[in-house]
Amino acid sequence: MVVVNVERLRMHFVQALTRTRDADVRRHVAAALAELSPSGKPPLITCPRCGAVGLPERISDHDCTEES
Ligand SMILES: [Zn+2]
Repeated sequence: MVVVNVERLRMHFVQALTRTRDADVRRHVAAALAELSPSGKPPLITCPRCGAVGLPERISDHDCTEES
C-alpha cells in the first residue's frame, strides 16, 4: 500500500502555485489542490512568502508584500 502524505503534497503544490505566472499552470495546480481537499472545493492556502491566506487562484495572483 502506498502512503501519500497529503499535507506535503499540498505544500509542494502551493509552492508551485505561488511561483508561476502561467495561467494554465495555475489552473492545473489549483485543480490538483482541489482534488486533495476532502470536500472537493478549493482549500484555503497560505502564501509561503507573506503568510496571506486565501483561495489558490487568489493567492497565486495576490500582490505579495514579500515579492522581490
Ligand atoms: Zn504573498
